Amino acid sequence: MNTQLNGHTNISNGVLASPLAMKHVNGIHEVEVYSVAFNANLDPSKLTVTQTDTPKPLPEPSSLVFGQTMTDHMLVMSFDPETGWTVPVIQPYQPLQLDPASSCFQYCPNVFEGMKAYLGPDGEPRLFRPDLNMRRMELSVDRVALPPIDGHALLKLIKKLVIVDKRWIPSQSGYSLYIRPTIIGTRPALGVAASSHALLYVIMSPTGPYFPTGPKPVSLLAVHENVRSWPGGTGGFKLGLNYAPAFEPQRRAAEKGYMQILWLLGHEGERRITEAGQMNFFAVVKREDGDLDLVTPPLDGTILPGVTRNSVLALAASHSPLTPLPNITPSQRINTHEKPITMSDLTMWYSSGLLLEVFCVGTAVTVASVGRIGYEGKDMILADESRMALGVVAGAISEKIIAIQEGRFQWEGWSVPCKE
Ligand SMILES: *Cc1c(COP(=O)(O)O)cnc(C)c1O
Repeated sequence: MNTQLNGHTNISNGVLASPLAMKHVNGIHEVEVYSVAFNANLDPSKLTVTQTDTPKPLPEPSSLVFGQTMTDHMLVMSFDPETGWTVPVIQPYQPLQLDPASSCFQYCPNVFEGMKAYLGPDGEPRLFRPDLNMRRMELSVDRVALPPIDGHALLKLIKKLVIVDKRWIPSQSGYSLYIRPTIIGTRPALGVAASSHALLYVIMSPTGPYFPTGPKPVSLLAVHENVRSWPGGTGGFKLGLNYAPAFEPQRRAAEKGYMQILWLLGHEGERRITEAGQMNFFAVVKREDGDLDLVTPPLDGTILPGVTRNSVLALAASHSPLTPLPNITPSQRINTHEKPITMSDLTMWYSSGLLLEVFCVGTAVTVASVGRIGYEGKDMILADESRMALGVVAGAISEKIIAIQEGRFQWEGWSVPCKE
């Protein structure tokens, strides 16, 4: 029996391993999962750092494959319902030791984030809008009822970790250090229940441009037989459980010659576009008055609220004679819209020559133009897939975002130094 008390999940019948937290409610033993959590909040001032004795040689930047090489150190801390968060530790990168019954292996209460550190012109590492990643992580953690985290405290610790492994950030433009904060449920019991225990760790990997030979347009296969997300589901959160179900459809799309899936949602005649692979989706549509519409699906719970998505909308809306985007006529307005896009909208824009560009965005790729979309046996051709180029709007936004990320252009405090 589950009951809700004070916003915390309470699980009866003593299924939790924490008898100290038990109390009596209406004659039933109730265990308040987080009742003692706040005794030991995540405290960045207690950080201890143990440097490795055997630093690894740095890889040749041109040889980097996304997410394959890890840096020398990691940040680790764990949560116990009786004692709260342990003291955070930066230690040499090493395997984890976990009880095989840990809930992360069974019921997947697993959350992650993806962010990057860039080397600024002053040689100091910078993060891009990290407050948004931290807030999103807090919400993802809540969605699977993991012990709550304090995003402000975690950000302080991530900045420290980046500084410890600063030598791993490649200095060339287009290169960065990919940061993967992760929280897994470690409750060592098989009962199907929220994880009272958690392990929080952060690992990092140096990374180069997503398409090493240039910004190759991606091909998308529009799929409705499988869905990535649904109303009331978890598509709007960065949970590990959202990704494995995409692997088999992704394999079939690749066999048909498409790089990513364009995920649709809804019955025939509706078929709304949600996302492309693990990226947010944008269409550029020509208006009768000569201005442009930039359209992306709204955050209705089925769309991952991307930091890049949010930044693209803000930069496009800022395009004006005073703050023009590169290579776009300053007087041409870009009207941004967060509204549903159906496959029939897209097909109609395409066949009437109004669909100027389609592009996808996310931290890993930044901005990728779409060259071809397969739907019901036909291809819409949007760009030459053999040409290494971004569309005009995709290119302008990509150039501006990367300049802000790398600290070469100041914009609204988006680029945050790690040094405090
Ligand atoms: C991470 C992710 C994105 C991109 O989000 P960013 O914050 O821009 O990196 C988009 N869609 C999905 C499904 C994702 O997991």
